[in-house]
Amino acid sequence: MTASAEKFTRQTLLDVTPLTPSLFTLRTTRDPGFRFQAGQFARLGVTKADGSVVWRAYSMVSSPYDEFLEFFSIVVPDGEFTSELSRLREGDTLLVDRQAFGYLTLDRFVDGRDLWLLSTGTGVAPFLSILQDFEVWEKFERIVLVYSAREAKELAYQALIAGLAERDYLAEHAHKLLYLPTVTREQHPGALTGRITQLIDSGELEQAAGLEISPEHSRVMICGNPQMIDDTRALLKRRELRLSLSRKPGQVAVENYW
Ligand code: FAD
Repeated sequence: MTASAEKFTRQTLLDVTPLTPSLFTLRTTRDPGFRFQAGQFARLGVTKADGSVVWRAYSMVSSPYDEFLEFFSIVVPDGEFTSELSRLREGDTLLVDRQAFGYLTLDRFVDGRDLWLLSTGTGVAPFLSILQDFEVWEKFERIVLVYSAREAKELAYQALIAGLAERDYLAEHAHKLLYLPTVTREQHPGALTGRITQLIDSGELEQAAGLEISPEHSRVMICGNPQMIDDTRALLKRRELRLSLSRKPGQVAVENYW
């Protein structure tokens, strides 16, 4: 098969940065023909020693305007894909499907005043892409990024998040963002303590944000651990916030990572 007829392109790793023994970030070249909306994911492929290729979904961290692609990855012990991915180094090849996928995008919501971005672990990735794109800053009056990890050292991209306010193109909107990290297994200064579900249930999250979650004003995106997503959806449903479907717009959009 000729390269142009293949469903994927071959990209080169520009950078691999370990964050903890089980978390790392990677940056690759980007095919000029690869287009995506902030919040979408790519299908990445790695070639195993026996020559077979394993594919997995990965949300873009980078914005649609960046010339590179950036991803944030877990290392699953003995995971078929991540065992291979975590071995790759600068200059190695990563396969990227030509098409981007996914519906965790701002066009899921037709209206809304406050955007809540709720994430666990690597589930923060699509929200970092959304926050680096201009649209969200124009569309919403308040943006609350909630990022949950077990320990503070697992909170990635802290400099990127803190630096959003300094970007020229966001400066006049920077006051809209409230960042609420939360850690579940320790107390950490500057972070809330506990799971996102507990913090919603107890009212602590809204108190920390100084905002109420309501069907009228709130739009909620949830990404990461499927159990967290199910439990959060159940809590939000009690408050009349429902999944947004193309035939019936609602207040909630989700992406399960497994
Ligand atoms: P698998 O056999 O695929 O998974 C084994 C087990 O590991 C899973 O059952 C689950 O318990 C656990 N697991 C898998 N992924 C994660 C994770 N991200 N965090 C914690 N535990 C996990 N993963 C990323 O690291 N970054 C991303 O940006 C990302 N985006 C995704 C987007 C979508 C739409 C989907 C469906 C998944 C995404 N994933 C992401 C998960 C990713 O596709 C793989 O599951 C992951 O790379 C592990 O692959 P594996 O073959 O090593 O293990």
